[in-house]
Amino acid sequence: MTIEGLLKLSLIDPLEAQVLLAHALKCTRVQLVIRNKDTLTPQQVTEVSALFMRRMQGEPIAYLTGEREFHGLRFEITPDVLIPRHETELLVELGLEKLPKGGSVLDLGTGSGAIAVSLAHERRDAQITAADISQAALAVARRNAAAHAVTIQLVHSDWLEKIEGRFDLIVSNPPYIAASDPHLQQGDLRFEPHSALTDGANGMMHISAIIDGAARYLNPAGWLLIEHGYDQAAAVRALLQKAGWQQAQSWKDLAGIERVSGAVLEGNHADKPL
Ligand code: GLN
Repeated sequence: MTIEGLLKLSLIDPLEAQVLLAHALKCTRVQLVIRNKDTLTPQQVTEVSALFMRRMQGEPIAYLTGEREFHGLRFEITPDVLIPRHETELLVELGLEKLPKGGSVLDLGTGSGAIAVSLAHERRDAQITAADISQAALAVARRNAAAHAVTIQLVHSDWLEKIEGRFDLIVSNPPYIAASDPHLQQGDLRFEPHSALTDGANGMMHISAIIDGAARYLNPAGWLLIEHGYDQAAAVRALLQKAGWQQAQSWKDLAGIERVSGAVLEGNHADKPL
């Protein structure tokens, strides 16, 4: 069977079929087109058909290929980590804006390390610490840091529990989907780590804990930036204000949805827990 023939037979989205075939043949999609009359070995046909089948059953492309592009970098992705979303690039951009020269950053719930590695890659001057409760996720983050030749201090921690010291910036994309949200039973989300998507409660549990705990880990003038769900911005700002943070505000993603909220810790608040 030829490349062209196999692609015609596939019952999945044509673009996704190309991505999976290129992955299996270790070539680019352009090379597939150039070589479309090439004959595949029976073994290749079996391998690719298995990938098509898994895709038909709903497995996310990123888990089938083991990678995903984020903020211009290629990240290794396994089912142990959330698949990085493009809207999370907003958190990276804001982080780059708020991070002072030579400053330090803490990324809470780093998963694949997409946020921490992207920040480190852009800012060689920064000291980056990334924490996760999952050892499996930390292993993926470690490989992603190595692949992009950046140094990140990885900490096995349940949110702030094992964190020491203070930072100039804290960023987090915590699990913020409510346990009752039907999206958890749909699409890619069915295959992603449940604990990376939902807090098992109303979606605000971890966000609220971070807002309450982060002040003790920030330097004066340090920013806290949190990604959240499409309908959580006002609630997150209210929590920030209630906890005594300043300049609480939200930023819109490319889809026009308020996706990240944050606030700053000014002056003398740094010495005492808020
Ligand atoms: N943004 C993801 C989604 O809606 C969820 C990621 C998260 O919970 N941090 O699918």
